[in-house]
Amino acid sequence: MTSLGSNDALPGDAASDPRTTELARRLEVVRTRISAATAAAGREDPPGLIVVTKFHPAADVRRLAGLGVRDVGENRDQEAAAKSAELADLDVRWHFIGQLQSKKAKSVAKYAYSVQSVDRPQVIDALEKAISREKDATGRDDLECYVQVSLDEDAGAHRGGAHPLEVESLAEKIASAPGLRLAGLMAVAPLGADPEAAFERLAVISAALRANYPDASGISAGMSQDLEAAIKFGATHLRIGSDILGSRPAVG
Ligand SMILES: *Cc1c(COP(=O)(O)O)cnc(C)c1O
Repeated sequence: MTSLGSNDALPGDAASDPRTTELARRLEVVRTRISAATAAAGREDPPGLIVVTKFHPAADVRRLAGLGVRDVGENRDQEAAAKSAELADLDVRWHFIGQLQSKKAKSVAKYAYSVQSVDRPQVIDALEKAISREKDATGRDDLECYVQVSLDEDAGAHRGGAHPLEVESLAEKIASAPGLRLAGLMAVAPLGADPEAAFERLAVISAALRANYPDASGISAGMSQDLEAAIKFGATHLRIGSDILGSRPAVG
């Protein structure tokens, strides 16, 4: 984690910074894939792009912001809290996409625009309390919440998220919590399975949710490996990490 320290500030001349050049090139490749997949799916508008910056230094987030990125995703509170504090001057929105422990809600409420990994009632209670406190202190906006739904048919291969049958009750709990806004669903395609089949199931679950909550139309799906499949099945947000930032530095 030493690379997350604040002494890795962006070099003054971004145009000649090799890392900025690399990020710009990778971002362009991903944006081209997104455009192609959007056209192939017969969709008019491309989904929103959340660049997942976990394990990469704050300086990379600053470079990305300079390249026009407005949404970034992080999966660990400690790392996200440090980066968002260091980069408070940037006009970016922080999306929390990792397993959230209730005791971290207070910290997440300070910087998160959305929490995409809501998968149990205790987390909703904790977020409601934390957001209410934060609103009193800073007047922040409502927190967008996504129910993370598990698309694993084999419970043993679980990659996080609530069972599809739990979505309705979690959605109801979020929708009735002051300060929280039910934005939709988030999911990760199961390992080793066809992402198209998984994202098709997600689209069906989303349609059922929207029947009761028309505003909960968000579908956050699609990562580096499967963004085309996600776009085909209606993703409104993509969460792309390694294809833009490169492989993640190993952590101990
Ligand atoms: C890391 C992560 C991503 C990004 O995955 P890549 O394969 O690096 O694009 C997306 N969503 C979640 C929940 C993640 O943890």
